[in-house]
Amino acid sequence: MTEQDQARRAAEQDPVVTALRALVRVPSVSDRDPAQVDTAVFDELLAELARQFPLVHERLEVTRIPTHALLLRWRGRTDADPVVLMAHLDVVPVDGEAPWTHPAYDAVLADSPEGLAVWGRGTLDDKGCVVGICAAVERLLAAGVTPERDVWLSFGCDEEVSGTSAVAAVDHLRAAGVTPWFVLDEGGAIAGSAFPGVAAPVGVVGVTEKGTSFFELRAEGRGGHASTPARNGPTARIARAVVRLDRSSLPASLPGPTVELLRRLAPHAPLPLRSLMAAASGRLAPVVTRALVAAGPEPAAMTRTTLALTTLSGSPAHNVIASTATAGVNARIMVGDTVASVTEHLRRTIRDDGVEVRVVEAGEPSPVSPYEDDAAFGLVERTITAVFPDAVPSPYVMMAATDARHFTAISERVYRFAPFRMSKAQRESIHSYDERLTVAALHEGVDWYAALIEGLPA
Ligand SMILES: [Zn+2]
Repeated sequence: MTEQDQARRAAEQDPVVTALRALVRVPSVSDRDPAQVDTAVFDELLAELARQFPLVHERLEVTRIPTHALLLRWRGRTDADPVVLMAHLDVVPVDGEAPWTHPAYDAVLADSPEGLAVWGRGTLDDKGCVVGICAAVERLLAAGVTPERDVWLSFGCDEEVSGTSAVAAVDHLRAAGVTPWFVLDEGGAIAGSAFPGVAAPVGVVGVTEKGTSFFELRAEGRGGHASTPARNGPTARIARAVVRLDRSSLPASLPGPTVELLRRLAPHAPLPLRSLMAAASGRLAPVVTRALVAAGPEPAAMTRTTLALTTLSGSPAHNVIASTATAGVNARIMVGDTVASVTEHLRRTIRDDGVEVRVVEAGEPSPVSPYEDDAAFGLVERTITAVFPDAVPSPYVMMAATDARHFTAISERVYRFAPFRMSKAQRESIHSYDERLTVAALHEGVDWYAALIEGLPA
């Protein structure tokens, strides 16, 4: 038997790997329309979770949050300043055309460029975190550990569709008078090849996230038959508005967490970049900002609110002039901007009273959680260094939205970090295909959550 066969044989017997594979095999896809959700599948997922982690379900106080979310309380030595560990149980659907190397819900245990891995939808987003948290608690329970403070576990069932289960969990905690010392949800990771020229992996912890808002632009006119068109109808006005927005951009700047990220990475960066990155907070800030804007859409998104033109509609028929034309703008709002200031930017840029700008979904950016000289952030950071000694821990601004944003209503500190090593290819597999988590990374993740809980101060 080769070494690889032995490793696979061992992983097949491994309870933590088995738990992840069991959860991945249950295709818990959420949907914006609750009627489209297969509740039997979510029932099965919760049953599987209880089977895999019996002590967690026996010893913790379990509250079911409609419809399939869980809130679990592990009583510590005190109920003052508790912590909340979050993850979500639902996954995004699989595109049937996508070229998965192994079927998305088979949870195949096979080699990957990163090593022996569990392959499948949800391994990284976010069943790996569910298993990491539960396996850590299960292990500590078996060892007779009582945490210094209450540890709450909050597992949502509709994160991927911006559902309401996290809001309901927050309401439950608020009603119970719980004010978490800090909340930890998915978000950052131990990211390899995250920054050009930096070899060390970066342990990025999201301390704020951009707000997601959706705007509708609408123009109305007389419509009519396509044989007698008039100039400047609704379709043309919307087209002009779209082009003007496409050519515009909101002002760029460097938020505090980005400055801190650059400062911490500077010693690991190639020599010509070092002093520039280290000075990002000072008089070189505009230079660094311009460099990031010029470096491509991803670095540019780190510096400002972005607008994506998404939906478009005009006439429903070939021979009818539209009486109404609309365009949708998906905005990711940076800390410092607001829904109101972005609305104002849209109006000013479009410069057309005939185009109505309406806020369809308003999401403000999340407040920035403390990261400088802060005991809670310090604990997260120290735990990263302890389990991932090669990684550079740092705060950063998250681009995507998570359930964690709702918890900013009850806690000053909301951190977004999944304690798993992820290559660039793995990060790109999230919401795409060939999602996979290595067996080694899964174990490091369990160790990390366990170390975090054991590190809670009295
Ligand atoms: Zn997720």
